[in-house]
Amino acid sequence: MRVMVSLRSVPTHTLPPANERMTPASPGAVSSPAPPAGMAPLGSPGESTARRSRPMPRAERPVSLYDLTLDELVTGLGQRGHAPYRARQIYEWAYAHLAGDYEVMTPLPKTLRAELAAELSISTLTAVRDLETDDGETIKTLYRTFDGEFVETVLMLYPDRATVCVSCQVGCAVGCAFCATGLGGLTRNLSAGEMMAQVVGAARQAKARGRTLTNLVMMGMGEPLQAYEATMRFIGILHDPAGMGFGARRITISTSGVVPKIDALAEQPLAINLAVSLHAPNDALRDRLVPLNRRYPVGELLDACERYARKTGRRVSFEYALMAGVNDGDEVAAELAETLRARDIPCHVNLIPLNPVDLLPYERPSQAGIDRFAAILSAGGIATTVRYSRGVEIAAACGQLRVQAGTMTMADAATPTARHEVVGSLASSDL
Ligand code: SAH
Ligand code: SF4
Repeated sequence: MRVMVSLRSVPTHTLPPANERMTPASPGAVSSPAPPAGMAPLGSPGESTARRSRPMPRAERPVSLYDLTLDELVTGLGQRGHAPYRARQIYEWAYAHLAGDYEVMTPLPKTLRAELAAELSISTLTAVRDLETDDGETIKTLYRTFDGEFVETVLMLYPDRATVCVSCQVGCAVGCAFCATGLGGLTRNLSAGEMMAQVVGAARQAKARGRTLTNLVMMGMGEPLQAYEATMRFIGILHDPAGMGFGARRITISTSGVVPKIDALAEQPLAINLAVSLHAPNDALRDRLVPLNRRYPVGELLDACERYARKTGRRVSFEYALMAGVNDGDEVAAELAETLRARDIPCHVNLIPLNPVDLLPYERPSQAGIDRFAAILSAGGIATTVRYSRGVEIAAACGQLRVQAGTMTMADAATPTARHEVVGSLASSDL
């Protein structure tokens, strides 16, 4: 494990009080939660426990450059006698120039570059394979983590924007009935650094194609509001103007409905876009599709959405995966329109024809059924868009590539199969 010694050895008594540690990492950034695993003295208790496997304890996980806020880098370098501007230079090279190696950070003295190279990895993710489709407009990358897990990232190039769909967990504990990611339960949360590594990777892929990464959606593997601390740290680093400077309006978090965390998000200084995976207008149906609904039922979830919209001034997106014979009936569409109309939530509904998952019994409705559902919502006064997935030639719905990685070769995974599509293209809300 390569960790910057001075950063690991920050004694607890040099830290500011806990309440001060929660101040923004940089002006305008979201509150900076507890630092990442590996920096033992700064560590914080884990959020989620594994359902099936035993992830490595957080204190033993490696810290990379991408895990560190600028303040932490300044502190760590300062303890080694380096001036604060060195940290800013490193940030600039890592995020503006997308440097993957300290060696190319030529404004830094050679000795510092060597010191960093020996002690602080830039990234802990290894790209295993890129899969391209849509004439190269959709690029899916499978990464291996330091502990041998797999996560997926999708870059989608549109004429006017380039959007990355980031994963935040290995697996997911929510276990939605139609989702490949939830099939194996949760293994562990990704660190902020592992999320940043996906963004930088996508930014490099965009740059190689003459494009600039403009938008980010947390619609890959995992439930971001169940990996709340790491997600908030990640967004703080992503937003920092000294680094990538990603604006709040270009960031979307998608959630299956973790109500207390929606409220926590609303309190953050950055008003990011919120997408809520609704999939059903009532508890009887949503209980079946999104098990978390039994804890936070539709009424409470919509209350939280209302609060979020009021507090942030942001329109909320509702994602609705259409499943034949399950949640696509005319009466369900009318109930959805009625339920949303009854609320004071500026919103938009994104209808996503289901990407069928092997082993799961759900199917995509016919085109006529999709159009009818959309027409009923629109007629009911609800702004509605049908979003078709990109990447139909990649054998990889959200989480499927990872599920398959252990059982088939990557070459197999790249074989066109009509049934598997990139759910990452839900980047629909690219608001
Ligand atoms: N956990 C978060 C974000 C990741 S999932 C959430 O659930 O919102 C991103 C989106 O993909 C969610 O709207 C989810 O419901 C949807 N999704 C998952 N599996 C799908 C499938 N097979 N077909 C269509 N949409 C799917
Ligand atoms: Fe988890 Fe989202 Fe998949 Fe549900 S849809 S299992 S919350 S990743």
